[in-house]
Amino acid sequence: MDAKSEKSNLIAGETGDWEVVIGMEVHAQVTSNAKLFSGASTEFGGEPNSHVSLVDAAMPGMLPVINEVCVSQAVKTGLGLKAEINLYSVFDRKNYFYPDLPQGYQISQYKNPIVGKGEVIVDMLTGERVIVGIERLHLEQDAGKSLHDQHPQNSYVDLNRSGVALMEIVSKPDLRSSEQAKAYVSKLRTILRYLGTCDGNMDQGSLRADVNVSVRRPGDEFGTRCEIKNVNSIRFIGQAIEYEARRQIEIIEDGGTIDQETRLFDAKTGETRSMRSKEEAHDYRYFPDPDLLPLELTQDFVDDIAKTLPELPDEKRARFIADYGLTPYDADVLVAERESVDYFEDVAKGRDAKQAANWVINELFGRLNKEGLTINDSPISSAQLGGIVDLIKAETISGKIAKDVFDIVWTEGGDPAEIVEARGMKQVTDTGAIEKAVDEVLAANPDKVEQAKAKPALAGWFVGQVMKATSGKASPQAVNALIKAKLGLD
Ligand code: ADP
Ligand code: MG
Repeated sequence: MDAKSEKSNLIAGETGDWEVVIGMEVHAQVTSNAKLFSGASTEFGGEPNSHVSLVDAAMPGMLPVINEVCVSQAVKTGLGLKAEINLYSVFDRKNYFYPDLPQGYQISQYKNPIVGKGEVIVDMLTGERVIVGIERLHLEQDAGKSLHDQHPQNSYVDLNRSGVALMEIVSKPDLRSSEQAKAYVSKLRTILRYLGTCDGNMDQGSLRADVNVSVRRPGDEFGTRCEIKNVNSIRFIGQAIEYEARRQIEIIEDGGTIDQETRLFDAKTGETRSMRSKEEAHDYRYFPDPDLLPLELTQDFVDDIAKTLPELPDEKRARFIADYGLTPYDADVLVAERESVDYFEDVAKGRDAKQAANWVINELFGRLNKEGLTINDSPISSAQLGGIVDLIKAETISGKIAKDVFDIVWTEGGDPAEIVEARGMKQVTDTGAIEKAVDEVLAANPDKVEQAKAKPALAGWFVGQVMKATSGKASPQAVNALIKAKLGLD
């Protein structure tokens, strides 16, 4: 980070500048058909309590059995975060009264997590690069859901989510602004989606963040932090940090101190409020779950998973910049979603990648954005867009006509080459025909010809007239060359 961006991250208080320090604990639901320790389905949105096995309901004598898929997914995620994989890890009981986890404790990993230190590279729109340390990733059970809005007097419980595998991904306190924190979560979500280890759907609760916030004078020791629980959208993460940093600054500037506590974010007011004073690890009476052996992996198991890793966003971005000559900004836009990058790579395959990127970003994404659609709903397939790019490359159509073809394919579908053929949209490259049009335009405007001879910049006006006269079908290069030649401007 350079001195300038460090400065711009500061928050001005009454008594001078403050720096916000943020660390995140992201809970990511593991993509797997069954739960972490039972065979019940993890499907979202089932009838309440329809995905509950006897293990999830904590019937007496039921024993947890670890789901190998969840373990593989955690290892895969660890590898994707360039993190240490611990061949030895332990499941502990975290004792707590959870109305929606009938065991009365959560099975989690405490001293020996499955994944250790790693890192996530976050490229900001400003060009600033932030490297966020990952402290650890551990596996744990999710809780169910208490429903308080179904009955005036009673609360109900839905155990469908109870026992679903979560990866808790803990960052170091390396983030220095709400923008950085939002970009970090987006990047993490992108990596998880590339890996296929979490679907990242925040609106379904598959990804949620506990946000730890403190403030300090630049260069000072870290201040006391507050933890804002379970924030479930990227926008809310930003709002919660902005509010919380301001709140802490005001307290300290008024001569007060920050109490370490757990807070809740209220999306309606945009404020955080106290939930409870911070609990300590020893309050949970962690101890190794006697129903589960320590998890011991072989290096071969890890190496086999490493072979299945896809090309990740950082590597793709670097390749697009180095091999395709894309700008870092364009590369970032393309790699942000796995579906977008797959689409782009289909269009770029065997074609000019820079031109493909322009069409995907400017025309396609532009239009999708405008109409509130995602790449998955695109009415134009990568093969169709590739077909349009091919027609430009072959000089069958100009870039301008290509936009009309794009519009037709968008609304009516069809094969671009056939559309161009059937509707007579082919570019006129026959110089005889173009020359005739040029001559007519020049003859009709003798005064403008004289002006252009003195002021060559005016030649562009003739190009426009000839294009109009040929309904945009003349090759602009050919028109340009002919006009310059006839005006003696070469
Ligand atoms: P605990 O286990 O009590 O939750 P950790 O040390 O594991 O505490 O930290 C939890 C999260 O809080 C981590 O993401 C870490 O980066 C973050 N964190 C720790 N200290 C601070 C601080 N002073 N300000 C902001 N975040 C912090
Ligand atoms: Mg914690």
